[in-house]
Amino acid sequence: MGNQDAVTGNTQEPDNPKESLNLLTSTQRVIKEALEKLGYPEAMYELLKEPLRVLTVRIPVRMDNGEVKVFTGYRAQHNDAVGPTKGGIRFHPEVTEDEVKALSIWMSLKAGIVDLPYGGGKGGIICDPREMSFRELERLSRGYVRAISQLVGPTKDIPAPDVFTNSQIMAWMMDEYSRIREFDSPGFITGKPIALGGSHGRETATAKGVTICIKEALKRRGIELAGARVVVQGFGNAGSYLSKFMHDAGAKVVGISDAYGALYDPDGLDIDYLLDRRDSFGTVTKLFTNTITNKELLELDCDILVPAAIENQITRENAHNIKASIVVEAANGPTTLEATKILTERGILLVPDVLASAGGVTVSYFEWVQNNQGYYWSEEEVEQKLEQVMVKAFDNVYQTAQTRRVDMRLAAYMVGVRKMAEASRFRGWV
Ligand code: NAD
Repeated sequence: MGNQDAVTGNTQEPDNPKESLNLLTSTQRVIKEALEKLGYPEAMYELLKEPLRVLTVRIPVRMDNGEVKVFTGYRAQHNDAVGPTKGGIRFHPEVTEDEVKALSIWMSLKAGIVDLPYGGGKGGIICDPREMSFRELERLSRGYVRAISQLVGPTKDIPAPDVFTNSQIMAWMMDEYSRIREFDSPGFITGKPIALGGSHGRETATAKGVTICIKEALKRRGIELAGARVVVQGFGNAGSYLSKFMHDAGAKVVGISDAYGALYDPDGLDIDYLLDRRDSFGTVTKLFTNTITNKELLELDCDILVPAAIENQITRENAHNIKASIVVEAANGPTTLEATKILTERGILLVPDVLASAGGVTVSYFEWVQNNQGYYWSEEEVEQKLEQVMVKAFDNVYQTAQTRRVDMRLAAYMVGVRKMAEASRFRGWV
C-alpha cells in the first residue's frame, strides 16, 4: 500500500524510484484511484482497465510499383455501456496495440468529462503516410474500413481523424463504408469535408476548447487574458491555432516551438508571420538562427504554459523549474503523474489533457448529431455550443478537485469515469 498524501489525496509509491512514462499503466493507475475514491468495487476497475474489444487486422495494399504490401491495423473499443464508441484513427510508423488501447481509454474519459453519449474507441495503422502516394493512401484507407466494417458503424463505433489522418482520408473511409452498406452513411465517421457533411468549426475545435479552458483557469486565478504571457510547445494543428487565438485575444505569446527548436521574444512573437511561414507538419523554427531548446522553452518565465506537442515533456526532472502559474495540457500525456504532484504542491493550476483537449471530440459529436438529423448548424452555433459544454466541464472538474481535495487530473478522471461506471452498473455488467 502507498502513503496517503495530505495535499492531493493521491497515493504514493515510496518503493518505486523510477518515474512512470508508460501512458497505459499511468492511465490505469489514475482510473483505479478514481474508482476507489468514488467507492466502486474492484470488479469495476477490472472491467475498465482495458478495452472491451481490440481487433487486429492485416490490410493488403497494391502499391504504385505493382507489389502488394501488407499493413497491420488496430481498432480498440474501450467501453460501450453509455453508447457507441468514438475516437480517431492514427496513421504512424510507431503505432502499437498498447498505444491504441490507452488512447481508447482516454476517449472514454473525455466523453465522460464533456458528457457525450459515447464510450471511447481508437484506431491505428502502422504505416508512414509521408512516404506513400495519394492513391496508396486511398487504397490503405479503404482496405482498413473493409477490414473493420463488421465492428464499426454510426450506432456502434464512429471513427475520426488523428495523427497524420485528415478530412480526405475520412471522405474515402465514409465512401467505402457507404458502398459496403449500400446506403449513404455520413454518420459513420466525423472530421469529413464540409461538402460531405463535415461540421463547421471542426478543424479549430481542439484549440478553441483549450482556449476556453485557459479563460476559465485564469478566472479562478484572477488573471486577465489581455497582456498575459503565454508559452506554447508545438506549432501543429493544436498549438498554431491556439497561439493565434491567444494572440487575437490580446495575450502575449512569448514562446513557441516545434520538433527542431523554440523561439522566444519577451515582447511577444509575431504569430501571424509564423503561421504564414509554418509548413503542414507544424515546422517553423528552422527558418531562424537565434533559437532556444524545447527544454528551455518549458522553463520560461510566463503566466500560461501549454504543452501542445508530445507526451512526457514535464517530468520530475523539470517540474520544479516550471514558472507558469497555469499549465494547460493540449497534448495527450505531456505531464507525468510524478510531475503532476509536484506542480500541484507548488500551487500551479494544471488543466489535464482529458479535459483541455476535449473540444475536438465535442465538435465531432456535433458533426454526428448534424448528420443524424440532416440539419446543419452555422459556425457561430457550433462555437456557442462548444463554449457551453467546455465551461460546464471545466467547472465540474474544478469543483470536484476543490471539494474532494484531489489534484485536477484525478478530479477529471473521477468525473470522466463516473457515467461509464454507472452505465455499466445499471446494465448489470458489474
Ligand atoms: P501536429 O502533428 O499537427 O503538430 C505537432 C507539433 O509538435 C509540431 O509542431 C511538431 O513539430 C511538434 N513536435 C513534434 N515532436 C516534438 C518534440 N519532440 N518536441 C517538441 N515539439 C515537437 O499535432 P497536433 O494535432 O497539433 O497534436 C498535438 C498534440 O495534441 C498531440 O499530443 C495530440 O494527441 C494532441 N491532440 C490533438 C488534437 C487535435 O485535434 N489536433 C486533439 C486532441 C489532442
